[in-house]
Amino acid sequence: MTALPPITPKEHHNYVAFFLTLACNLACPYCINLHNSNNRFNQADRRALDVGDWIRSANRLLLRADLPLTLQGGEPTLYPGFYRFVNEVKPELKMDLMTNLMFDVNVFIKNVPLWRFTREAPYAAIRVSYHPGQNDIDDLIVKTIKLRDAGFRVGLYGIEHPDPQLRMHIQETQRRCLELGLDFRMKEFLGEYGGKMFGTFKYDNCATGQTMRTCVCRTTEIIVDPAGYVYKCHADLYNGRDPIAHILDPDFNENSIDKFRSCSSFGSCNPCDVKIKTNRFQVFGHTSVEIRDIR
Ligand code: SF4
Ligand code: SF4
Repeated sequence: MTALPPITPKEHHNYVAFFLTLACNLACPYCINLHNSNNRFNQADRRALDVGDWIRSANRLLLRADLPLTLQGGEPTLYPGFYRFVNEVKPELKMDLMTNLMFDVNVFIKNVPLWRFTREAPYAAIRVSYHPGQNDIDDLIVKTIKLRDAGFRVGLYGIEHPDPQLRMHIQETQRRCLELGLDFRMKEFLGEYGGKMFGTFKYDNCATGQTMRTCVCRTTEIIVDPAGYVYKCHADLYNGRDPIAHILDPDFNENSIDKFRSCSSFGSCNPCDVKIKTNRFQVFGHTSVEIRDIR
């Protein structure tokens, strides 16, 4: 099989992610994936990429030292070819993992090469989301310590929820983890709660879901869905809407994502794309997309 031409993200391209699967073994009520049977990806009836194609796709990437390939989902470890993928992709590619840590850590430690998830960065390569009422914090702590003792760098993340009780629980959990020497960070709550919108967004009314408007939009990210389609934003990816390319297209490269493209869904943008956040250098003020000509 002939090798595909390389994809070399530019300095201003901040994120490369393969969504290996949108399936998940939790069922958070606020999940943006509409997981399992309800997810729109399944509704669109698209064929999931097989592991050989994921490996070919990853091997196209020529990534800077500060830009890993992030594996996310859903829960990426549920992808049947997960262990083969992390072992067989070319060794120069570093990976990050976004997980709910519901996997068997002994199997993970035995099957995942440490170097794949080891690099210098201001945050952990394995980032675990704590979802109160879904994954159990005692279990997460035990597993995190096991992974840490095996040499992996793991960070736990909780949401600064506006509900006072939940917020207090997360803060207590953070204190507890920090006392145990575990990295536990807070993430801003994004979305609506109690009739109020939470989050710091760059564009007015971009994520309220009330009025749809047209615009042109340009991304700084390469995000690939389980079938290998590349999208201009997370809202498009989760809806299986308007892919801009396929990761195996020989013509797809770093220039393909630099174009402004028309969109008629401004107003239902995903907070991930339009929130003002810290970039990979932990500098605040970055948004994933740039939007113009809103009408
Ligand atoms: S762990 Fe993440 S992907 Fe899974 S249900 Fe919860 S929010 Fe959705
Ligand atoms: S305007 Fe919003 S929905 Fe449209 S492409 Fe940009 S981020 Fe996505």
